[in-house]
Amino acid sequence: MKGNVGKSTETLRKNLIRILSEESVLADATDLLAYRNDASWFVGNPSIVVLPRSTEEVQKCMRYAYENDIAIVPRGSGTGLSGGTVPAEGAIIIDLSRMNKILELDKDNLTIKVQPGVITADIHSAVEKEGLFYPPDPASQGASTIGGNIACRAGGPRGVKYGTTKDYVLGLEVVVPPGNVIRYGGKVIKLSVGYEIGRLLVGSEGTLGIITEATLKLIPRPMYKKTMLISYSELAKATQTVSKLIASKIIPTTLELMDNETVRAIEQFKKAGYPTDADGLLLIECDGYKEKDVEEQIEIVINACKTLGATEIKIAENDQQAAQIWAGRRSMFAAYANAAPTVISEDVTVPRTKVPDIVKAIKEISAHYGIRVGIGGHVGDGNMHPNYMVDKRNKDEMERVEKACAEVAKAALEMGGVVSGEHGVGIAKAQYAMWQLGDLYVDYMKALKKVFDPKNLMNPGKLWIESGGEGK
Ligand SMILES: Cc1cc2nc3c(=O)[nH]c(=O)nc-3n(C[C@H](O)[C@H](O)[C@H](O)COP(=O)(O)OP(=O)(O)OC[C@H]3O[C@@H](n4cnc5c(N)ncnc54)[C@H](O)[C@@H]3O)c2cc1C
Repeated sequence: MKGNVGKSTETLRKNLIRILSEESVLADATDLLAYRNDASWFVGNPSIVVLPRSTEEVQKCMRYAYENDIAIVPRGSGTGLSGGTVPAEGAIIIDLSRMNKILELDKDNLTIKVQPGVITADIHSAVEKEGLFYPPDPASQGASTIGGNIACRAGGPRGVKYGTTKDYVLGLEVVVPPGNVIRYGGKVIKLSVGYEIGRLLVGSEGTLGIITEATLKLIPRPMYKKTMLISYSELAKATQTVSKLIASKIIPTTLELMDNETVRAIEQFKKAGYPTDADGLLLIECDGYKEKDVEEQIEIVINACKTLGATEIKIAENDQQAAQIWAGRRSMFAAYANAAPTVISEDVTVPRTKVPDIVKAIKEISAHYGIRVGIGGHVGDGNMHPNYMVDKRNKDEMERVEKACAEVAKAALEMGGVVSGEHGVGIAKAQYAMWQLGDLYVDYMKALKKVFDPKNLMNPGKLWIESGGEGK
């Protein structure tokens, strides 16, 4: 998809400087380099980058782009793993990182109003100081923006108990083509008025509009938590523990899986103290408002893990030990990147009873194609991250990994799963999304996009493949 039809970059630059200011427009080749990709392996070619400071400035940029038939790509921090913010050729990138203010923390209504460029971890620290809690916790929380989280429906380890970003969005302000502002919801917890357009915008990956403000739900911060690291000599036993635990009617706060390949990559990179002889590790955390409740949960968890053959159960004795256990898991992606030039992180999600089957399928498919894979995932909600460690300069290996990714996606679909649990579709999963959703569903999505974006200029080339072709 071509994003910029016939405008020279110099004309664009001059016009956009007139609309914004010199320091809000980047057009140098070296500046643009940083905007060509995200954390996936896709690469694009923007014509220019703008950094607005207000909703009005976003509106002005969109009006200009729409009048001149130029594609627009919203961008948070570029930590996406699906190519969502990788620009169509010649597109204008609207970088929201300067709109990074927390506008209001309402302790009486348990809400927080933020601009889209606020870093996720800054929301955590602002609310936790007040005894409040914003549960969504993508592992990228130190870098990702809330706008990007909302646009992708980001999840994280705590999703198993508390849900994901989509469950905390109460209100949105969005700039939609050709430059209008629409508002949805607000501080109210309930809403039963008209179509929920805000819900449609959550997860729309920048294809319908640009989120310029969000009101998020907060809950009281749980006072007690316990963190455990549980080792298994067989990966299959670790995966079987997942449905056993859920069937015990315990929903832990986090239930993370790491296979031996992942454990070794982490230990090589971070030295988190993980046992490198474990074939599978579970990182389980339970929390609550009363110490006794947490102790009871822990007892049930320990019994379930022992029944399924856990070889070692380590319970963190203090916050420092818990932080060390988490430091290993949080460095997972960096550890893979340390182990191979290119990491392709997939995101299939299956019903929890199917976790052992999908893990087995990932291992078998990767072995068949001769691809090194590490599995880490939020298994408590059935969300698996097969992380393929490859080298994008190796054409043959890239062809094999593409086949492996596609087969894993198909396997997840056959198990009643979905092709993405939290990373979104972007470019990477456009074909798989079409397999999952089917032609009719995609036609409805296309019709909805036409209502918002009749010229198809909002982040074109994402979510589906225009040709509807089989190959990826
Ligand atoms: C090490 C690592 C760990 C990760 N862990 C997790 C995890 O645990 N859980 C998880 O869900 N994801 C995870 N991710 C993926 C990524 O961090 C998330 O998808 C995150 O939500 C992206 O935020 P961002 O600000 O970087 O968005 P970007 O990558 O900049 O953009 C992502 C998408 O959102 C759109 N967008 C951005 N801002 C706006 C806006 N204001 N309005 C409209 N559209 C917008 C973009 O156009 C693009 O389609 C991880 C990534 C890395 C690199």
